Amino acid sequence: MATLLIVDDELQVRKLLETLLQYEGYHTQSVATGEEALALVAEQPPDLILLDIMMPGMDGYEVANHLKNNPATANIPIIMLSALSEPSARVSGLQTGAEEFISKPVERVELWLRVRNLLRLKTYGDQLKNHSLMLEQQLRERGTETAKMNVHDLARLDLENALRQAVTAGEFTLHYQPKQSLSNGRVSGLEALLRWERPGYGTVSPAVFVPILEHLGLIVSVGRWVIEQACRQIALWQRSGIGAMEVSVNVSGHQLIEGDLIADIGRLLAQTSVEPHWLEVELTESSLMDNTQHTITSLQRLRAMGVKIAIDDFGTGYSSLAYLRRFPLDTLKIDIAFIREVTSNPQDAAIARTIIELAHSLGLRAVAEGVETAEQLAFLKQAGCDQLQGYLLSPPLPVAALERWLRDQRGL
Ligand SMILES: [Mg+2]
Repeated sequence: MATLLIVDDELQVRKLLETLLQYEGYHTQSVATGEEALALVAEQPPDLILLDIMMPGMDGYEVANHLKNNPATANIPIIMLSALSEPSARVSGLQTGAEEFISKPVERVELWLRVRNLLRLKTYGDQLKNHSLMLEQQLRERGTETAKMNVHDLARLDLENALRQAVTAGEFTLHYQPKQSLSNGRVSGLEALLRWERPGYGTVSPAVFVPILEHLGLIVSVGRWVIEQACRQIALWQRSGIGAMEVSVNVSGHQLIEGDLIADIGRLLAQTSVEPHWLEVELTESSLMDNTQHTITSLQRLRAMGVKIAIDDFGTGYSSLAYLRRFPLDTLKIDIAFIREVTSNPQDAAIARTIIELAHSLGLRAVAEGVETAEQLAFLKQAGCDQLQGYLLSPPLPVAALERWLRDQRGL
């Protein structure tokens, strides 16, 4: 967890900033003077500093100067706070080396976004620094162990470059995996899944490449492409004999925070003339637990548009039930880990049953993923699960194969 140091002579400002930042899950420390700040930073360097400009004694410019001129503390990002909104104050602050500037009174979302962005930059900078330190060490040692790490790093770098290329060359495709209603056996919807055939290598698992897209900052544009493709496909089916289908798309937490997911979805639905209820977004439990308040607000806007919302991989992310009630949701997808041994492991069976009951008591539908056997199906039916998805029904399919499969299902 990141530690933020707040330096401000006014008690109310310190209290307010602490409350806002702790609410977003950060650990905070606060001091009232520049002198105390320098002493504390020397002892335990924080991950980021919020620094008031006007303070009795040492002012914010002086503190920033000290920190930025010391190589040991120069990398700690500084956000300057000032009641002065004149450009000259801003320029002086930036001249001392501060990374950002916020005017008082502090606006909650702006504060949080600036803090978050700076912390991400710092993590990246730290990684680069560690990386070059490691390379230097490897050159010195030239041992077998470090040589292996070197190969690993090169492979990662190679993969990053290949992914950048994949984005510009449009190498991604979508496959669709059907879901079935357990009450009437009908196909109830599809999950759109991102596929990447790496030229010369074959299929790369999204579990491998999605985190790298997130790290490279490319997930927002790729995620937007996924939603666009899904909407276009719904529109095409609507005009064909197949008819419109409910499609769920997986959305990364980064799309909620860095991109304007809500505006993107609104625009893409309008462009393709798709009614919002045909689209569902799936978010993992852990991405909902980051920046909870902002996420709830975004999801409420999405829900108000009529788009459905699902929690993916539910049951492993330790979300509190109190939070769950606050999210506007339609669907809980039971984590595949509980389905795998649902017929042989009584604990997994109990958890799966509990999640289904929980979903129903909150007025949500429960979907089981990764269903592969008739025994699992029988269990889920008996437990009152609403929908299933998995190889027992169908693997994810490319569009043409899926359309054939749908026609077969309907006996056309
Ligand atoms: Mg999913």
